[in-house]
Amino acid sequence: MASITLKNLVKKYGDGFPAVNDISLDIADGEFIILVGPSGCGKSTLLRMIVGLEDITSGDLLINGERVNDKAPRDRNLAMVFQNYALYPHLTVFENIAFPLRLNKGKYSDEQVKKLVNDAAATLELTEHLDRKPANLSGGQRQRVAMGRAIVRQADAFLFDEPLSNLDAKLRGQMRSEISQMQRRLGVTSVYVTHDQTEAMTLGDRVAVLKKGILQQVASPRELYEQP
Ligand code: ADP
Ligand code: ADP
Repeated sequence: MASITLKNLVKKYGDGFPAVNDISLDIADGEFIILVGPSGCGKSTLLRMIVGLEDITSGDLLINGERVNDKAPRDRNLAMVFQNYALYPHLTVFENIAFPLRLNKGKYSDEQVKKLVNDAAATLELTEHLDRKPANLSGGQRQRVAMGRAIVRQADAFLFDEPLSNLDAKLRGQMRSEISQMQRRLGVTSVYVTHDQTEAMTLGDRVAVLKKGILQQVASPRELYEQP
């Protein structure tokens, strides 16, 4: 579990206008926060800075109060959940979920891998699908496998990069409620990027609105809704 603190974060690509422009934000331990804004407003850049896939031009990033600007992604213990699931078609559900543990060769025994994967599968109601390949799953089940991968890593936080944007409207609605239930059940700090207003207004505890790299406001969905 983790708190995440952004202090005056700036990202400049080349000489252009900053993609992320002096953003400060405190994300509490266990909080579910949504980053919303139009395409190009800097959402993914900000998410990638948090996970460590993008260098920070200036400012500080703290996880549980510790400055992590210079830490490699693997030392930050955060898990990304991607848009296109990024599942391996030739691997079973079990092996797809186990994949992050296999990367850490030697760190986990076969018994530990089995236990972590089975526990994650139970949480996600995937137990009976563990031997299947991704092609034989529904879109919602695939999305859950992608979350399973984040869960087995016992990450301090989940970072979602528009995970539902490729789904049809019906499935999107279903996954919205699944994700929000799952987040609450696990209580893991989550940062969720979307350009979808409905997701922004229904999923999180708070919504951070970005425009042209600038943080316009941070408020609860209710506060945003009741604004004139
Ligand atoms: P969003 O996720 O909100 O669509 P991005 O974070 O992808 O926004 O992009 C923010 C701004 O930074 C945009 O103007 C985009 O063109 C620019 N940008 C993003 N990635 C790069 C890159 N690798 N090189 C140069 N400019 C980039
Ligand atoms: P290496 O740098 O050791 O060759 P990688 O960069 O592929 O390996 O990943 C090493 C570790 O970094 C992964 O096991 C994972 O913990 C973390 N990592 C890499 N990319 C991401 C990501 N997008 N989201 C979260 N963690 C990541």
